[in-house]
Amino acid sequence: AVGPAWVRAWDASEGAERATAAFRARFDAEPDGVWSAPGRVNLIGEHTDYNGGLCLPINLLHRTYVAARATSETLSDAVVNLASAQEAAAGLWSARLTEVSPGTVSGWPAYAAGVAWALARAGHAVGGVDAVVDSCVPYGSGLSSSAALECAVAVALDGLFDLGLGADDAGRTQLADACIRAENEIAGAATGGMDQSSSLRAQAGHALLLDCLDGSVRHIPFDLATDGLALLVVDTRAEHQLADGQYAARRTTCDAAAAQLELGTLREIDPGTLEATLARLAPDDAGTQDIETQDVETMRRRVRHVVTEIARVRELVGLLDAGRAREIGPILDASHASLRDDYEVSCLELDLAVEAARAAGALGARMTGGGFGGSAIALVERARVDAVAAAVAAAFAAQGLTPPAFLVAAASAPAARTA
Ligand code: ADP
Ligand code: MG
Repeated sequence: AVGPAWVRAWDASEGAERATAAFRARFDAEPDGVWSAPGRVNLIGEHTDYNGGLCLPINLLHRTYVAARATSETLSDAVVNLASAQEAAAGLWSARLTEVSPGTVSGWPAYAAGVAWALARAGHAVGGVDAVVDSCVPYGSGLSSSAALECAVAVALDGLFDLGLGADDAGRTQLADACIRAENEIAGAATGGMDQSSSLRAQAGHALLLDCLDGSVRHIPFDLATDGLALLVVDTRAEHQLADGQYAARRTTCDAAAAQLELGTLREIDPGTLEATLARLAPDDAGTQDIETQDVETMRRRVRHVVTEIARVRELVGLLDAGRAREIGPILDASHASLRDDYEVSCLELDLAVEAARAAGALGARMTGGGFGGSAIALVERARVDAVAAAVAAAFAAQGLTPPAFLVAAASAPAARTA
């Protein structure tokens, strides 16, 4: 039998000590402080962000730590020096902050230097900085190590240069905006704002209900431990090359459907009139090479996913508000079926993780994130966490797949100073 591999979350002192030791070794000096930010996992509301929908992430216990010091107070002479324990082979990266702009930074430093660039662009007085990163957030697993890095750097810069943004939600929204600009414009990854909003704005013991239409949030109590439950995350370690092209195709289809229906976004469709609305869609091949929109049944399934998924977010939030977390399992299952059958973004590994978890007693399970790999979540009895993980690991082994990695998620605190 193959035992499950757990990704351990560092506690604050371990994270701070690791980042501080790495900073000392790199710069032969003491950092001014250590800041950290969590990865996140989305409970429900998948592929709804670009349709003006709702999503519901929680912050992970797993965080990215940044030890840093300010080296100059003004932008004109600001130099950024960066190193990461996860990118040790890349060594030290250095640049003048005034030379950072879209297209000038490649690789991991784009996510970090991009935040300094975006804050400076927004008029904040950012200067030079030395920073060293260390992290226990899984890389490229759909758990948002990229936002954890950006948001840790954002609160570090906020603290080092007394920007005063970390103190309240309005300021944290500005920090999130800078992180989103860094990821979109400097790192060149076209992602929505869920990850950065969660890492900076979600609270411990709560999920973040994010309305992607206007950026407004509501904090939903989410403390599974009081119900004797746990959220198991399965990092499938799968990463299928389809992802980018398929993501673009889904966005195109959603935009085309909204345009045909003369709607701003698919959010505007009333779930009660969904079938009648779908019947109004027609094949759309005018000037587009996009295969999906040429097949009206495919188009309808894509829209059905988006509309039913937004309804499922509301339903799940209603249960959490009523203190009925134990009952959310079937909604997670329905979300997975919709993503697999209507939106067609699941894959063998995600389906296997979900099915094996359920067979081992999970109350509900679904893929989370964009799909074609990445992670799945399962709602399980606390006492069954190890058994469910072992069952999923065994199912992967039986199919000859790369062993998955496991972690337990509990809604944890947002980005902040750690030491
Ligand atoms: P995810 O956010 O799901 O983990 P992404 O592809 O969006 O996956 O982001 C992963 C990338 O973010 C890495 O390839 C690297 O460039 C950068 N990154 C994340 N964490 C770190 C880290 N601790 N040190 C250096 N780079 C990091
Ligand atoms: Mg990411």
